[in-house]
Amino acid sequence: MLFEVLARAFDNAEHTTSRTQLTSILVDLFKKSEPEIVDKVVYLIQGRLWPDWAGLPELGVGVKILIKAMSKLFNTREDDLEALYSKLGDSGKVAEHLKSSRVQAMGGLTRFVQKAEVSKLTVTEVYDTLTKVALAVGEGSRDIKINLVVSLLSRATPLEARYIARLFEGRLRLGIGDATIMDALSIVYTGSALNRQIVEYAYNVRADLGNVAKILATRGLEALREISPTPGTPIRPMLAERLSDPQEILSKTGGQALVEFKYDGERAQIHKTGDKVVIFSRRLENITHQYPDVVEMTRSGIKVNEAIVEGEIVCIDPDTGSMRPFQELMHRKRKHDIHEAVKEYPVAVYLFDALYIDGTNLINKPIRERREFLSKIVSESEKFRLSESMLTSNASDLEKFFLKAVEDGAEGVMVKAVHSQSIYQAGARGWLWIKYKRDYRSEMIDTVDLVVVGAFRGRGRRGGKIGALLVAAYDEKSDTFQTVCKVGSGFSDEDLARLDELLSSYTINHRHPRVISDMEPDIWVVPALVVEILGAELTLSPQHTCCRGVIKKGVGISIRFPRFIRWRDDKGPEDATRTSELVNMYLDQLKKIAEEPVEKVET
Ligand code: ATP
Repeated sequence: MLFEVLARAFDNAEHTTSRTQLTSILVDLFKKSEPEIVDKVVYLIQGRLWPDWAGLPELGVGVKILIKAMSKLFNTREDDLEALYSKLGDSGKVAEHLKSSRVQAMGGLTRFVQKAEVSKLTVTEVYDTLTKVALAVGEGSRDIKINLVVSLLSRATPLEARYIARLFEGRLRLGIGDATIMDALSIVYTGSALNRQIVEYAYNVRADLGNVAKILATRGLEALREISPTPGTPIRPMLAERLSDPQEILSKTGGQALVEFKYDGERAQIHKTGDKVVIFSRRLENITHQYPDVVEMTRSGIKVNEAIVEGEIVCIDPDTGSMRPFQELMHRKRKHDIHEAVKEYPVAVYLFDALYIDGTNLINKPIRERREFLSKIVSESEKFRLSESMLTSNASDLEKFFLKAVEDGAEGVMVKAVHSQSIYQAGARGWLWIKYKRDYRSEMIDTVDLVVVGAFRGRGRRGGKIGALLVAAYDEKSDTFQTVCKVGSGFSDEDLARLDELLSSYTINHRHPRVISDMEPDIWVVPALVVEILGAELTLSPQHTCCRGVIKKGVGISIRFPRFIRWRDDKGPEDATRTSELVNMYLDQLKKIAEEPVEKVET
């Protein structure tokens, strides 16, 4: 397929404000693509060359190199290009502008020039060149990268140049979610969007959408049904619902449950093949380099050759062995010298699941069986052991265990259904796991993670600079982001100063097709960044679109006095709090208020 076809699809996607339209743009695109390259097409739509977890260098040659390449190609001074870049704020627009002015400048020769300029670039050529750029390292790599950029841009049309430059810079940011891609794939290769479930199952078990797309396109739907976990390729994590009443929790799990400490650390999916150990985060990033100690613990602590297990990595106090708060773990990410960090911030691993062992797929087995396998393959030590747990069907025992967990430094408990259907629901949030955290009260105390979809410029003192964000919850059913509130407080001066720069590369000039909003912010952005928000309580609001009409006709759910807590870089937009969770939280809040003792008024 010619790259031009992809560039046109990107352009259409960039200009549409409808989610349905976005799907049909992808449907057309996949129809035109040869099955053998559909993986490359999927990665490029996602603005990358391979899944993030692959541990390979990412794209992103940096503006400096792009400018050098363009200066060489267009025979223009770098200073002038930098000025143009500052004005347009996007390397794609700079490249497109230069390309189109070149065609025009050759005025009289237009026919001849245009003929020579007609692109013959194919998707594979662009993909392969981008790969060479990403993989070029060491001495001389800068010049190699510049020459490769020049070689592609010299053959590109203005429109192609726009996307080539953005891809090089690692800033494609079309905001097309996995769900839209999966919808389009099922329509094209199975004839029906209904088969999306099977595509999704395969993607959950093997978190590589390019690979899943290629299997579907070349070997069909049956091959996808057969997919099983592979060590080295992450499985999308199973997630929990939340509740705050032990009795209600037990009735949701079917009366009985396995209750475990809910450790406050970093989730780790550990893959072992012989001596090779890879650790993936909650967002499936490869975090192995941050935990050389966990790699060692796994090598000596897991007695089988091949395994995929899950656990929580928790920072511990080296003197007392007690658990330290989650924030301590973040030092590991910031420290440059990892060996020093290992000494300063020691960790323990509490394992809670086994998904695959020596050729056996465990994800469809009930939890007690999985845990049984886990206990058999782990040789426990103080710092590498199974999560503390108990089996119960009694609400007051659950509550006691919860209090013990909190006292020991855990966040609360994870309550897991144990019936015959208690499988590992990869990639899904469901009632098989319920989190019961220490900080639920009648007012809104648990934070929510919302996606930034727009921003407002400050008036007065904050004059012209971004001073508030429009944030939204994720609606899984419609794959859209529905606005919840405008948040303008809780930011430090430093956070505020960074906002303009941070949002600049996500800014678009219209509402993104996956955003549902009645509000008109000063700036629209591609849904990508996630913020943690805390408020006084959940309220109903006619201004916001989150779950509009679910609780009451014409109004949505919002947050009163929302406050910025922190950025959640570990979450993608689809990992944000879902609209259905907010409905449950709102109903929970109503129930709590109704249960509050009414003060007697003496007459
Ligand atoms: P979520 O991961 O559910 O989107 P979150 O990142 O805000 O939300 P929490 O809501 O606090 O996290 O709860 C889920 C996380 O709890 C899991 O992803 C996992 O990292 C952690 N966890 C700690 N202990 C356990 C346990 N025993 N079983 C399962 N998960 C656990």
